[in-house]
Amino acid sequence: MKKIRITCIVCPIGCKIVANKKDDKIEIVGGNKCKRGEKYAIDEILHPKRMVTTSVFVKNGEYPLVSVRTSQPVPKEKVMEIVKEMKKISLEAPVKCGDVIVKNVAGTDADIIATRTVNSIPNSV
Ligand code: SF4
Repeated sequence: MKKIRITCIVCPIGCKIVANKKDDKIEIVGGNKCKRGEKYAIDEILHPKRMVTTSVFVKNGEYPLVSVRTSQPVPKEKVMEIVKEMKKISLEAPVKCGDVIVKNVAGTDADIIATRTVNSIPNSV
C-alpha cells in the first residue's frame, strides 16, 4: 500500500488530503473538509487531467502568435502530444477570441479555443 498526499485545488482552502493506494483501490484517510475533495483526490490519483494553455502561430496578424487553451481538462499523458500538435499549426489572421482552432484535439473530447483576438495587419488583406 502506498501513502499519497495531495493538495485539493477545487476551492481556495487547499486541503491537504491523505490517501492510501493499493492497485486501483483508493482509500481516503483524511484531510478533506468536504466530499468534493475526496472525488478530486481519487480522480487525480487514478486519472489525472490538466487544462492545456499554449500558443499557435498566426500569419499576417498584428501579433505572430495567438494564445489558446483546451475547452476542458485532458488526460495528463496527452498534454505533450497536444502542445506538439499546436506547434505545427499556422493560422491566417484574423483570429477571434473564442474561435475553435482544432476540434477533438489528439483524440480527446476537448477542442482548442483561441483566448484572444489577433486582427489582420491592414495592408496584408
Ligand atoms: S476538500 Fe473541499 S474544502 Fe477542502 S479544498 Fe477541496 S473542495 Fe475545498
